[in-house]
Amino acid sequence: MSQQLHPLIFDGHNDVLLKLYRAGGVSAAKSFLTGCPGAVDVPSAKAGGFAGGFFAVYVPSPTDLTLKFEEMTKPEYQLVLPDAIDWADAAPVVMAQTAILFEMERIGALKICRTVADIRAAMAAGVMAAIYHIEGAEGIDADLHTLDVLHQAGLRSIGPVWSRPTIFGEGVPFRYPSGPDIGGGLTEAGVRLVKRCNELKIMLDLSHLNEAGFWDVAQLSDAPLVATHSNAHVICPHSRNLTDKQLAAIRESDGMVGLNFAVAFLRDDGKMLADVPLTQMLRHLDHLIEQVGEDRVGLGSDYDGAVVPEDVTSCAGLPALRAAMVEHGYGESLVAKLCHENWLRVLEKTWGA
Ligand SMILES: [Zn+2]
Repeated sequence: MSQQLHPLIFDGHNDVLLKLYRAGGVSAAKSFLTGCPGAVDVPSAKAGGFAGGFFAVYVPSPTDLTLKFEEMTKPEYQLVLPDAIDWADAAPVVMAQTAILFEMERIGALKICRTVADIRAAMAAGVMAAIYHIEGAEGIDADLHTLDVLHQAGLRSIGPVWSRPTIFGEGVPFRYPSGPDIGGGLTEAGVRLVKRCNELKIMLDLSHLNEAGFWDVAQLSDAPLVATHSNAHVICPHSRNLTDKQLAAIRESDGMVGLNFAVAFLRDDGKMLADVPLTQMLRHLDHLIEQVGEDRVGLGSDYDGAVVPEDVTSCAGLPALRAAMVEHGYGESLVAKLCHENWLRVLEKTWGA
């Protein structure tokens, strides 16, 4: 078994904050330092060469996750889009999860990074680098006052929607097989959100956005187009994956795609079943690289938010993925780009130096 811990991996998406929120909130933060159930914590990150990434604040819908994953083991499925969540209900959850992130920093488990220089410094110091990210903008009001406040608090990335409607746009429902063209484009508030994020240099994450919304952002935004955790639709025709036409737009904007480890978006059959070989992840990487180029692909694990392949169930398994990349014939410089360099590149382009 390879013990290769380099190049360090900087990752496009994890749901650690949701995990700790469900495990007791701020008081659960210390378990992240010493070891907690799930895919990401400090000991497993050290064991696997995981340097950090986007830490998502996510307001859960009141649906049973187990039931949802069970439905997604069928040959075809069409999950119903959960109801919208009001700002008044979402904001306290956003505050609670953000408080967990601050507590994690306070106890020395990670560093909240506001610039790429912060990320590089944390990586050099061996401290986990965290980007404060919001997945689904339910916690942002139509006047965008919350956005301004959270930006001051360190927010540097936001997905206007999770797979659910917001006042800004519509998320793509979990469907297989299906294209992503389901529902309408950005609302008037969504247009203002995109413009304000551009002004504040907050990265916009398009991973859960439906296709109409994707093209609205493509037209409006002056930043590179980024999907932090999505895969190739041509290999796995899931509504959550990106078509070649979308990938062409990402390439054109000099943006970025992070490979999602969630098995339902990796497997040809779209099933949420974990017996997926690492070679299937390489098939997606090959296609993404072919479509958007070597400088615009990275990783977006979805750790602690999805069922992932059995060889990489936690950060500690990441050396196996590096080894698979090398075995597949990826050279040293490409592996470094995929592991972290491309994320730093696109963030520098989005946030400024
Ligand atoms: Zn997601």
